[in-house]
Amino acid sequence: MKVKVRIAPSPTGFLHIGTAQSALYNWLFARKNGGTFHLRIEDTDRERSTKEYEHSILYALEWLGLNWDGEVVRQSQHGIKYRKALERLITEGKAFWCNHTKEELESERKEQGEKKEPPRHICSHRNNAMHYPASSPQRINDWVLRLAVDRDVQRKIIFDDIIRGRIEFDASLLGDFSIAKSLDDALYNFAVVVDDIDMGITHVIRGEDHISNTPKQILIYEALGKEIPKFAHLPLILAPDRSKLSKRHGAVAVVDYKRDYLPEALLNFLGAMSHTFSKELLTKEEMIEEFELSKVHKSGAVFNTEKLNWFNSQYIKKLEPSKFLELAGIDVPEKAIPLITERLEKLSDVQNFDYFWKEPEYDKELLKWKEFSLEESKKSLEESSKILEKTENNEAVRSAFDELGQKLGNRGLAYWPLRVALTGKEKSPDPIDIAFVLGKEKTLERVKKAIRSL
Ligand SMILES: [Zn+2]
Repeated sequence: MKVKVRIAPSPTGFLHIGTAQSALYNWLFARKNGGTFHLRIEDTDRERSTKEYEHSILYALEWLGLNWDGEVVRQSQHGIKYRKALERLITEGKAFWCNHTKEELESERKEQGEKKEPPRHICSHRNNAMHYPASSPQRINDWVLRLAVDRDVQRKIIFDDIIRGRIEFDASLLGDFSIAKSLDDALYNFAVVVDDIDMGITHVIRGEDHISNTPKQILIYEALGKEIPKFAHLPLILAPDRSKLSKRHGAVAVVDYKRDYLPEALLNFLGAMSHTFSKELLTKEEMIEEFELSKVHKSGAVFNTEKLNWFNSQYIKKLEPSKFLELAGIDVPEKAIPLITERLEKLSDVQNFDYFWKEPEYDKELLKWKEFSLEESKKSLEESSKILEKTENNEAVRSAFDELGQKLGNRGLAYWPLRVALTGKEKSPDPIDIAFVLGKEKTLERVKKAIRSL
């Protein structure tokens, strides 16, 4: 059996970070097992689906390097398949029309609530075939097509989830659930099953928020007389408060990460978040090698931005200078690149190093070191200027500054005014390294400018 998996995002929003993780695990599973990974766009919600969102989803997957096999499948092109499958179920007596009104359904639910039973519809129309009133493709009033679900209270729907083990549901608790609003308007669970059958999906790997859909889908597979795929439900990505990660917790769209993060870092982070690998940093190839659904965790992991930043910093360090320049989009002097990439967590933070390519601006008060006076800073800078003028070699400059520190009775007093003069900032790499990158002329210019300001 050749492995065939898919992800099925709806183009009603950008690619969510959780869907990206599902995509990654599906992709790894397919690549590991010599199978194929497919993309299906679930665009049946005609009002909320847009082409822009669809394009952004495709773009985000491409950016992550999660290449899919074959053509993109779109549900909106499958209307005829759903219709045929629905008609077959009606003919075989496995699905039936119900026109119980909203009010009737509500009072049934209320009664069930009082008896502490789960809400469901046990339809009395099932055995006295109701006929849909017209051939109109539009939905008429309260009419829906329902699946005739086994009412045997003993009937269990059981599946062995590859990640979570055996899961059991009572079929009778589902009631005669609806599968379509009309022959041309199949509902979610029905469309998913017909598509998965049509695409020959062997393993359905998706978020655990779909577990409750699974028993309904299994019953639809049975009604259609098709083989049921294997299921694996992935843990959800959680916010720090352990609720499901959503917009109110910050960026959840993959495209929002593009500005600051490297796709390799995001993938490694998402991969390691809910799967045990032998080490922390892995290439995609290494992840493929080690990936096992049985190593996916059962419980959800908290989305930890600091951890993501750490992964990103590790990948930024490894960037080729030319690639870094391309991503930074700034003409960073080549000698400054290693000083920056050593310290960068997010790409846009490169702006914190702008003193490498433009004159720093700062308040002269910043030149003051701790309890020492501005006059003392001035003296320190004058000495610095002399050292920088006559000393060529980086190491010699360093030892001269150490001596200056001793002479001034405070090491910080030697280095702080120089740091501020060169960068205008409180935090920076070693000012001697910065002086080396800026070159003698520019360094002296900045030191002199600081002295003049005092
Ligand atoms: Zn009914």
